[in-house]
Amino acid sequence: MNIICGPKNDQRTVTITLPQNKSRIGVLVSGGLDSAILYYLLLLENKLRSNIHEILPITVMRKEGSKYFSSLVIGHVNQAFQIPYTDPLIVGDNTLPEEEQVKSGVNQALTQGFDIVYAGVIEQLPQHMVNWQPIPSKETTKFKIPFQSINKSHIIDMIIKFKQEPLFYITHSCSGEQSQIGRCNGCNGCNERSWGFDQLGLTDPGTI
Ligand SMILES: [Zn+2]
Repeated sequence: MNIICGPKNDQRTVTITLPQNKSRIGVLVSGGLDSAILYYLLLLENKLRSNIHEILPITVMRKEGSKYFSSLVIGHVNQAFQIPYTDPLIVGDNTLPEEEQVKSGVNQALTQGFDIVYAGVIEQLPQHMVNWQPIPSKETTKFKIPFQSINKSHIIDMIIKFKQEPLFYITHSCSGEQSQIGRCNGCNGCNERSWGFDQLGLTDPGTI
């Protein structure tokens, strides 16, 4: 599936593809917007292909809030496809530096019976990466990052295009003082999310 999205002056095409052969696929669901719409789109693509794949959410326990918010996202998306709720498989070593945690989670999933892992890693703009190390963003045959060439504004526009606005209310982006619930409005996560809405001339309706 090809999706054209983004602000009028920066429209880009995202391609969501699944493997040809029946596979067990893990999707990293963090509780934020990017992985939430990725999980939704992969389930949609699978449905268009008669649900040949098994697609399951996995979560890296990056901070206290991640399990709570990822559960809300899984509940919403599964309901949209009439799939019973399942807790995500918890993967990764959260004693590692943050950028290493994703890598360790992916590796763990691949050793625990998943054929492929998808992650919602988006284009990492320098102004939203202050004091952060880049998250690994190289695709392999077993690690797919279909959002690597789009930014937060494209993510938000896609959510609206697919009528998944409830995700704005149940996802969490703050990595600062309100990292468990709420917004600090000063960290990379908060800044990126409000920048994304600004690019589209919109205001974020979410508060948690
Ligand atoms: Zn914040």
